[in-house]
This record gives sequence, C-alpha cells and structure tokens, in this order.
Amino acid sequence: MIPFNKPMIAGNELEYIRKAVDSGKISGNGSYTQLCQQYFEQRFHFHKSLLTTSCTAALEMSAILINIQEGDEVIVPSFAFVSTANAFVLRGAKIVFADSSPAHPNIDSNSIESLITPKTKAIIVLHYGGVACEMDKITSLANHYSLHYGHQIFVIEDAAHSIGATYRNKPLGGIGNLSAISFHETKNIQAGEGGMLIINDEQFEKRAEVIWEKGTNRVAFSRNEVAIYDWIDIGSSFLPSEITAAFLFGQLEKFDAINVRRKYLWETYWQLFSKDSNRHLFHTPVIPEYAEHNYHIFYLVCKNKEQRNDLIRFLADMGIMAVFHYQSLHLSPFFKDKHDGRNLPNAEIFSNCLVRLPLYPNLVDAEIVKIYEAIMTFYSDIEK
Ligand SMILES: *Cc1c(COP(=O)(O)O)cnc(C)c1O
Repeated sequence: MIPFNKPMIAGNELEYIRKAVDSGKISGNGSYTQLCQQYFEQRFHFHKSLLTTSCTAALEMSAILINIQEGDEVIVPSFAFVSTANAFVLRGAKIVFADSSPAHPNIDSNSIESLITPKTKAIIVLHYGGVACEMDKITSLANHYSLHYGHQIFVIEDAAHSIGATYRNKPLGGIGNLSAISFHETKNIQAGEGGMLIINDEQFEKRAEVIWEKGTNRVAFSRNEVAIYDWIDIGSSFLPSEITAAFLFGQLEKFDAINVRRKYLWETYWQLFSKDSNRHLFHTPVIPEYAEHNYHIFYLVCKNKEQRNDLIRFLADMGIMAVFHYQSLHLSPFFKDKHDGRNLPNAEIFSNCLVRLPLYPNLVDAEIVKIYEAIMTFYSDIEK
C-alpha cells in the first residue's frame, strides 16, 4: 500500500524529547519552545511568533486579538479547512464566503471587493498547497477600505501549508497582520499536532502573550517584569508542551533537507503529468508567477466529480491512497442555511474534482512511476 502521507523522524526528534524530560520541564514555554520560535523569527524575520497546540488554536487566537464582535463580517474562502472559518464563528462573526480563482484553489482576489461592507473586519487568505495568494492586491484592498470606513480591516494568513514558500520573495506568514501555521502530521514540518501564531503587527505583541497563557501575564512574570501573575484578559491554554516543541525542533533542523526532497518528488510528478498529451485528461497545478511554493501538495483536477471518485476508488484497488480535499464550506451541513445563496462555482469545482496524490519524503521514484502508470491506465480504460 502506498499511503497518502507517512510521518517520519527526520533527525534528533527523539533525543530532544528525552533531553526535555531529563531537564525536568515538559510543560509549555520552555527552552525548546523558545528555540522553535527563534528559528522562525531569525530565518523568516517574523516580528514575533508563539508556538501553539495547533493551527486551529492560532486562528482562534487571531480572532480574539482582532476583537471580533457579534455581527462583524469576515471574508473567508469557501474552499478552505473548517478551522479557517470556525475560529471566527466562535467569536460571533458572520462569515462571508468567497470563491476560488478559476485557475487555482486560492481565493479569487477579483471577487473580494464586492464582498467588503462597512461591517467587514478581516479578510482571511489560505495559500493552498503553499502557493501564494495575490497578496499585494488583497492588502491594498484592505488598506483602501480601512481608510474608507475609518476602521482597520485586517488581513490574516491561514499559512497552514506555507512554511518556506514566498510571495514575490516575501515569506508567507510574514505578510498579514497575523498568520497561522500548522505542524499537523500531514504538513511539510510536523509534530503530530502543533501550530504557530505569527504576529507581524506590533499592536498585538503584548496581548498575544496574555491570551496564549490563559489570559494571565505569566509570560511577563517569567521574564521578571511583574512580581506576581494575574488574570488580566480573556485567553485559553494555547501553548503546547515541551515534548511537542522538542519533536518540532528536531524537524526544523532538517527543514532544508525535507524541502529539497519534496521539491524533487513534486517535480517528478510534474514532469510526468504535465505532458501535452495529458492536457485533455485532467488539469495539473497552476503556479502564478508571483508564487514560489514549497511542494506541499501535488494534485490533479479531474473533469467531474464522478470521474474523480472513480479514480480514487481505482487507485485504492491498486494499493494507492489518493484523497479528495476540502468540501466547500458554504454548502456544509453546518453553514448551508446561513449562506446568502451566492453561487461559488470555482470552489465547488475544486471540492468535486481535485485529487491529491501521495507526497512525503520517504516516497521513492518507483512509487511515483507506479502511481503515474495506474492513473494513465485508468484514463486509457475510460477513453476506450
Ligand atoms: C491543516 C490545516 C489547518 C488546521 O491545522 P491544525 O494544526 O490541524 O489545527 C488549518 N488550515 C488549513 C488550511 C489546514 O490545511
């Protein structure tokens, strides 16, 4: 069986977990947490980063930080993970779903302006597969309407897929006012469950530490800035244990090797599937000129839902696990009665027709060839 994803030990993860235990501190915000945060601040020049229990948690922190109130509107792509919207729903926001671009699964930046109203508080972008959204256009829209309505409209990056990828040479996660990264086992750098909040806008720096530590000033206390720590704001337990941080740091030390390997595998897929002779069968990923991606996902877009589902079943019978991705959130059982009825046809196409192929560092060339040949067999059967 070729699985869709296979977690792996990249380097010193287990040794670091032992060191954390031996050090006598495995609760949060210890030395491995600091090392992970410094890694991001130094390598990508993020203003500040806080390790979290998940990307979901980081998104929830961002909703608290921008002070979402009942009835505030938040623009979210419909082709997104549940947490991308849920984090804001939890604070009482009204979600306004946006469509995908016709060419790729990212939010259609041309569709955003018509969704902005005096109640808009934030625009959430998701760089699907680590391929950047059109950030200059989106940030200038947010800035323009912030001035126009006299209150700030924030841009938040769901950068769950995106570490190491760039938009016009700027690291993803470093562009929005706030950003959220994931270290879930399916992501390029993994810690089982884990995430990070990136604070690019200095106004959030102090309060983020408080929300992170259950609404207390315990972080300031640990730096000897206050004599006791108190309950001073809302918050929750958003910080992971040192066991998670130790594992993560072992992965981060192998960041470049992991990305080089993924690049090789992604490009091997690309060379096989993007041949001219295959163009009438399915679409391959579109990478806009402004995006330098990080080889997070290799996907195909089939002609219709039935063909996509048949392909997934066919591959499963051949011992290959390929998977669909997000179901359009505006049509979900939770949201469909709350949606305003606008059609979002491109999001539905990606929900219905996209299939992701196995991609993880221990995948080998022969397996990619086997996957390619199985897919070509599927298509030659249906073309007969
Ligand atoms: C994986 C993922 C998340 C959630 O990440 P967790 O760390 O599992 O909470 C959020 N958004 C996107 C786009 C994701 O792919």
